[in-house]
Amino acid sequence: MAESSSSSSNMWSTTYDIVIVGAGVAGSALAHALDTISSKRKHPLRVCLLERSLAEPDRIVGELLQPGGMAALKDLGLEECTEGIDAIPVHGYAVILNGKPVHIPYPGNAEGRSFHHGRFIQALRKKAMAAACVEVIEASVSELIECPVTGRVLGVRATRKGDGAVEKEAFFADLTVVADGCFSNFRTTVMGTTGVKPALRSYFAGAILEDVELPIKNCGTVCLVKGHGPVLMYQIGEHDTRILLDIKPPLPADIKEVVLNDILPQLPSSTHLALHRALEKDRLRRMPNSFLPPAEQGGQSTKEGVLLLGDAWNMRHPLTGGGMTVAFGDVVLLRNLLSKVGDFEDWKAISKVLHKWHWRRKPLAATINILSVALYDLFGADDENLEVLRTGCFKYFELGGDCINGPVSLLAGVADSPFLLFRHFFAVAFYSIWVLFTHPRLRPVSEGSEKLVLVRPSVAEYPALVAKSFACFYTACIVFLPLMWTEIRWW
Ligand SMILES: Cc1cc2nc3c(=O)[nH]c(=O)nc-3n(C[C@H](O)[C@H](O)[C@H](O)COP(=O)(O)OP(=O)(O)OC[C@H]3O[C@@H](n4cnc5c(N)ncnc54)[C@H](O)[C@@H]3O)c2cc1C
Repeated sequence: MAESSSSSSNMWSTTYDIVIVGAGVAGSALAHALDTISSKRKHPLRVCLLERSLAEPDRIVGELLQPGGMAALKDLGLEECTEGIDAIPVHGYAVILNGKPVHIPYPGNAEGRSFHHGRFIQALRKKAMAAACVEVIEASVSELIECPVTGRVLGVRATRKGDGAVEKEAFFADLTVVADGCFSNFRTTVMGTTGVKPALRSYFAGAILEDVELPIKNCGTVCLVKGHGPVLMYQIGEHDTRILLDIKPPLPADIKEVVLNDILPQLPSSTHLALHRALEKDRLRRMPNSFLPPAEQGGQSTKEGVLLLGDAWNMRHPLTGGGMTVAFGDVVLLRNLLSKVGDFEDWKAISKVLHKWHWRRKPLAATINILSVALYDLFGADDENLEVLRTGCFKYFELGGDCINGPVSLLAGVADSPFLLFRHFFAVAFYSIWVLFTHPRLRPVSEGSEKLVLVRPSVAEYPALVAKSFACFYTACIVFLPLMWTEIRWW
């Protein structure tokens, strides 16, 4: 139990049971979740939530919450955070290739929400501030305090925001939770030698389009464009629609020019004027899209007394809007596991929690992690074989039934099964090969002609197509299997 350092003779006695660094999606939700288990404990918990800026964030991240994330939010008692913020119900997706949309509705009555990120975060923080056991402090954390003898993390040092507050203050705790987001300053210290560096996959450049109509109302729209990654659009308020344009590294010197000349002509015409206006009015915001597989915490080479949560620990490509769903799912599991620990200073007990947490989150987190990167590789196809798989994937969705319901349930966080994902991914790979042999493709009428006609492959082309099929299948394997491996490796 927490004890004030001034009232104890032990110099390492703590002020809080738990200190959380970062009041974003995961940190705020965990603070509130700990309050809900506090009253059932022998002694009420004391939780400190440190956030460098409590002002409403203005970011291009975390604006679409999948139905699976909505369910976790409800489980945490936070569902009202999507109310009163001008949030828009989301009923599924529309994927557009060559101007042709395929409607991919969520299964059953599943519903997600999209909103302005800042408004949602403020609603989450309000719930954390209202929690009896939580003290929210506006302070920037600069270091983890480590025991000079054992190396165990004993808390953090932070500087409060406000006039003249320059002194670093120590916040001691039995357990420190680092939830400081994608640019985490502490992940390397916490993970030690088991840590992996985030791998940059692409950038999202974002803007807000005013008063546009998307091809299918209340659906996230994904446009597959040639020469660049996919473009995402979803309404985040009555008049506002977020557009996120995927740009592959290295970033071009003039992104606006690339957007106007290369990408805009490939988007639905209903968005052109609004995109022109948005680019005249404001700069394009940029965020890196990184992949960071989760490594198990609580082992020999990670720090004692501390754990990572949220993007600080595990990131996936934001194409599928799964980050908050994973974060809320993680908080639900962590809350349940921590509720059974009597003493948070007992690192053996916390280590066991971390081990169970790591494996229990797999069905949901691994599904969303793998899907996001695999789908990104297909949708952002930058080689011939991936293009075959992308076309096959689009046509697979066109088949409807389970070929839509299965993949969208995985994306929505409603079905949590990496093996179902494996099945659909390789079904797409085999269907792509079938399409290669059987579906007509655009070809010039005669050699050198610019006129194109749809022609089925002739038998004479089969040997070349067989070779291509092997190459496509190999490509599918090298996309999917290494991702699967990052999730099942156990050390
Ligand atoms: C471009 C982009 C778009 C995305 N879109 C979606 C989407 O539509 N849907 C979705 O589910 N996910 C989306 N994500 C992912 C999602 O935003 C993250 O998974 C989620 O925000 C992670 O939550 P977090 O709490 O770990 O980090 P954050 O929400 O970033 O919170 C971290 C907090 O820590 C604070 N902090 C940082 N350093 C310190 C410090 N030293 N001291 C004190 N406080 C500190 C920050 O101010 C911040 O409040 C997107 C990601 C990107 C990159």
